[in-house]
Amino acid sequence: MTGVRPTSPLDRVAGAHDAAVLAVARRGDPVSRADVAQALQVTPQAVSKILGRLMDRGLVAEAGTIVSGPGKPTTLYRIVPSSRRAIGLHLTRSRVHGVVVDLTGEILERRELETGHLQPVPELIATLAAEARELAVVGPGELLGAGLGMPGPVDWTEGVYRGSSEPDPWRGTPIRHLLAEELGLPVLLDHDSRAALVGETWSEPGLLRNTALVLVEDGLGASLCLDGVIVRGAHSHAGEAGHTVVRMGGTPCSCGRFGCAQAEYQAALDDGDAELAAQVLATVVLNLVRLVDVDRVVLGGRTVYAHHARSMEAIRRALTQSLQAEPWIHVEVMLSTRGTDLIAVGAACEVLTHEYGLPQALVGPE
Ligand SMILES: [Zn+2]
Repeated sequence: MTGVRPTSPLDRVAGAHDAAVLAVARRGDPVSRADVAQALQVTPQAVSKILGRLMDRGLVAEAGTIVSGPGKPTTLYRIVPSSRRAIGLHLTRSRVHGVVVDLTGEILERRELETGHLQPVPELIATLAAEARELAVVGPGELLGAGLGMPGPVDWTEGVYRGSSEPDPWRGTPIRHLLAEELGLPVLLDHDSRAALVGETWSEPGLLRNTALVLVEDGLGASLCLDGVIVRGAHSHAGEAGHTVVRMGGTPCSCGRFGCAQAEYQAALDDGDAELAAQVLATVVLNLVRLVDVDRVVLGGRTVYAHHARSMEAIRRALTQSLQAEPWIHVEVMLSTRGTDLIAVGAACEVLTHEYGLPQALVGPE
């Protein structure tokens, strides 16, 4: 079996309506037919049909009844978390962090492996496959596939790691294809920050319509959800905020330019100046807000957790100062609640989103 392209899922539900009903059910509490009909502005009869289809597939189940006034009691429905599973892998140069999640994105099991060195490609694929196999046997429900999130540049459409300009043994590797062949499962490959954002939007269906996720791990990156669509761009590179210049003629960057946000951020931390690092991060956030008009900013990544109080404060301060003449602009800044599982969970949620995501999230290449 070869790599499955992002637009040819194995188990897509009957259509946009089914995905929308599932999204309402995913928000948590059991829902009635009328709740769903109101949320989606469709008739209760249409909802009945869709709920029937979702129940046939085991994705939704009845969850008791309530009596609200005269007449027949109202039946409630809930999502069945144990009906499906997905594996998520977060790959860095020296580490693999893996999870298997249920249909709601809750972690059933996590594994962490320090590889300690940059593995040659055959060894890398064997390592990823071994981790995935360990996770594949945990938990009930149909296993849909595996997602892999890694630092970019990554071509989501082709499933290829494009690599950096430095000598890089992984450069140009069709990781999705190789891993799918090794595992015999569908595999999706994405940039780490985008995987993280897919995970956040899966957990908060419909709530993160205009959101930037800023990820600080070894590098600094961002990903965007605009008008409910995860933005990938012409070359899957949308959101490379770490390589936007924040200081002309500044610190040399691995990309060959000077004064990139990522280089300035790291230089500030290396100098022990956490306040300056926080200001660089705040500049990146402010630029994103100005450029694409998001109303939520989610911060995540291992490095950000170490400095999050200072970073959040600097970002809020920069936003308040910059936006004081525009009181109608509200931007909420929050820290991801996923901790260091963020990218692995997000990679798994890429698979869930691919199969059962809202129609907007299904917009992809081809
Ligand atoms: Zn750069």
